[in-house]
Amino acid sequence: MTAEVGFYLADTVDEQDQDGGAFTHSFCFDNSLEVVEGKTINKKYDEVRLCYPDKTELYVDGKYLCNRESCGESFDTHRDRNKHIREVEKPVLCPHGCGTRMAYQGYMKKHCDSHKPEGSRQKFTCLVCRRSYMRLEKLTKHKNKKGH
Ligand SMILES: [Zn+2]
Ligand SMILES: [Zn+2]
Ligand SMILES: [Zn+2]
Repeated sequence: MTAEVGFYLADTVDEQDQDGGAFTHSFCFDNSLEVVEGKTINKKYDEVRLCYPDKTELYVDGKYLCNRESCGESFDTHRDRNKHIREVEKPVLCPHGCGTRMAYQGYMKKHCDSHKPEGSRQKFTCLVCRRSYMRLEKLTKHKNKKGH
């Protein structure tokens, strides 16, 4: 595999991420439609309120079990379990109303860039391979890495 192909693969993974990817918790959505306004939790984007299990809940044989019955995943720490729930349920809502949900505020920020018109988001383009970057340092780094 050439490094160039690597870039395209990375782009594809991004797209899959935005489409939701594998989904095992979908039935939970009906229970968790309460939307928390981003500004009330010091965040930029609104989030659906998730129901996380307590630290002592569903702790079996040294493993923290996911509280979604059809899921069956288990974790070494309570924190990993919460992370899993967030990553599968993607509570962060797109403010542009396209229906996209993301696991983290940062991912949504990136997604929102896709709502901006082309020219306004990618400003520095590598003339050799057409890869574009928001910042000049990134393009310079890319060129150094690729040796062109
Ligand atoms: Zn789960
Ligand atoms: Zn969107
Ligand atoms: Zn290049």
